[in-house]
Parts: sequence; structure tokens; C-alpha cells
Amino acid sequence: MKDFEYSAPDDLQTATALLAEHGERARVLAGGTDIIVQLREGLCSADFVVDVKNIPELMALDYRAKQGLTLGASTSCSQLYEHPDLATAYPALIDAARIIGGWQIQTRASVGGNLCNSSPAADTIPPLLVHEATCLIQGQAGSREIPASEFCTGPGQNVLQPGELLVTLQLPEPAANSSSAYERFIPRNEMDIAVAGAASWIQLDASGQTIEEARIALAAVAATPVMATEAAESLRGKPATAESFAEAGELAKNAASPISDMRGTAEYRVHLCSVLTQRTLARALARIQEAGS
Ligand SMILES: Cc1cc2nc3c(=O)[nH]c(=O)nc-3n(C[C@H](O)[C@H](O)[C@H](O)COP(=O)(O)OP(=O)(O)OC[C@H]3O[C@@H](n4cnc5c(N)ncnc54)[C@H](O)[C@@H]3O)c2cc1C
Repeated sequence: MKDFEYSAPDDLQTATALLAEHGERARVLAGGTDIIVQLREGLCSADFVVDVKNIPELMALDYRAKQGLTLGASTSCSQLYEHPDLATAYPALIDAARIIGGWQIQTRASVGGNLCNSSPAADTIPPLLVHEATCLIQGQAGSREIPASEFCTGPGQNVLQPGELLVTLQLPEPAANSSSAYERFIPRNEMDIAVAGAASWIQLDASGQTIEEARIALAAVAATPVMATEAAESLRGKPATAESFAEAGELAKNAASPISDMRGTAEYRVHLCSVLTQRTLARALARIQEAGS
């Protein structure tokens, strides 16, 4: 690996100043589970690496009823699933945090790093989309907020400009009578990335029988993670049954524009969109019912 300078500032101002000073030659380091591999294999290069894990805002993990979750970008997957309340509040996100690599990776890998690496197959991104996460981005010129659904712009590409940092993800408090789930298909049981993945979120009405709102997001079936909007909208006002979920699964296929590669053919990925959408809708429903029983 080529030598680089390293700095680990403990405040945002210094971090953004360093990133601005070194421009395109600087890289952010969080858990390092993507960036170190990429630097070592020559897939990217850097003269200056800014380690952001000493910055308090990036390590925040603050969940409050009625306010939701403030998730520092560099918080690790294991910190998320060890939190006592988050598996109930944001189950799809915890499903994803639990399957990223093995536990050694999970203690390093951050949700913000997963998002900023912007792989179409990244496991935490569909859960962030269905939970309507907002990204707080900071640069030298100031801060801006964008929905997580607009963050990724292509494989490995996103809206961050040179000198900008993802600081936090803000997830709203989940609505009453709602739940979510994430599942992916991989050819082996562990240590692989998704052939396809799906996150589903549903909210039932007071009777617990009818779907009021739904959101579905897919991984590894397009150039970026995508919302399956048509499928989600088909569920509004429908009974929460396997038939409704099957119809949504069919419509979810329309959101996919996959490639064929060594993990699976495009046709297979489209098929998986339906299967995983149905499974995650059923899992989200079961979670609502378990919470109510
Ligand atoms: C063995 C192994 C197994 C894996 N399995 C999976 C898996 O199953 N599913 C999956 O989705 N991923 C998997 N990954 C990929 C990886 O673990 C995740 O993408 C991880 O979440 C990245 O987080 P990190 O903190 O390590 O990011 P880093 O590697 O530190 O950074 C990743 C990228 O994001 C940028 N970045 C990080 N934080 C910020 C920030 N706050 N602001 C701006 N830019 C930032 C970095 O510059 C870099 O380009 C695996 C990796 C390994 C090595």
C-alpha cells in the first residue's frame, strides 16, 4: 500500500479544513473495512487520510421516543444491535447490521461508511430508505441535509463533494402499528454480498388488518439502491395478507434493472425482488403482531 499522511482530529471544523486543504487527494476513514481494502488493492489512492472516529458528532447514538434516532455516521454495526431499543424501533436496520461480514467486521463497519461507499449491494441502505433517514452533510462552507434516498448516484458514487463529510443520519420515530424487515439472498451463508436484498416497512390501521402505508427498497438490482414505489403504493388500503404481498412482490420487479454477474443473472435477481419483498413484508407483519400480542 502506498504511504499516506494520517490525521485523527477530534472536531468537525478541523476535519473539514483538512479535507478541503487536500481536496481529491484526501480520504475519510471510519471503520476502514472498505477503504483500507481499496487502498491496499489500488482501487483508490490517497495522500492524506482523515480518521473521523474521534469526532463526537460522528460517534453519536441517541434514540429518544417522539424524536427518533440520531445516528453518528461512524457508529459501528455492533453498537447498533447492542442498543436495547433499536431492534424494536428500526428492525430492518438491525437485521442488516447483524449480517454485514462477521462480528469482527461488525465491530468496525459503520452505517455511514456503508452508505458513503455507495455499493448498490450495501445492506444498510434499503433499511435507511424505508425508515426515511435524512443525511446531515458538513463541509467548510456549511451544512446541508438530503434524504438518504437521494444520496447514492451510481455504483460507488454519491452526492458528497470533495471536502464534505457525512456527519449524522436522522431517522424519525417509527409510527404506531408499524414495523420493518430486511433480507438478502447470498449464495453462501456468510461473508458474501447480496445477490439481491429487500427492506419492507408497513404500518397497519387501528384494526390491525389493513395496511395504511408501506415502503419497500431493494439492493443489488440497479445502479443504486432503489425504492419500489409502485409496489409499496399497491399495498395502501389493502388487507395485510399473503395475496396482497404477492401482488406487491410482482410489482417490485418493475423497480429492478439489474446486471448479470458472477453472483447471479439479471433474470434471477428480478425473481428475487418478488421473493424477498414478500418475505420481508410477512416478517414486518409478524413483528407488528408479536408486539401487539
Ligand atoms: C470481510 C468483509 C465482509 C463484508 N461484508 C459486507 C456485507 O455483508 N454487507 C455489506 O453491505 N458490506 C459488507 N462489507 C463492506 C463494509 O464492511 C461496509 O461497507 C462498511 O459498512 C463500511 O464502513 P466503514 O466504517 O468500514 O467504512 P470505511 O471503509 O472507513 O469507509 C468507506 C467509504 O466511505 C467513506 N466514508 C466513511 N465515512 C465517511 C463519512 N462520515 N463521510 C464521508 N465519507 C465517509 C470512506 O472515505 C470510504 O470511501 C464487508 C467488508 C469486508 C471486509
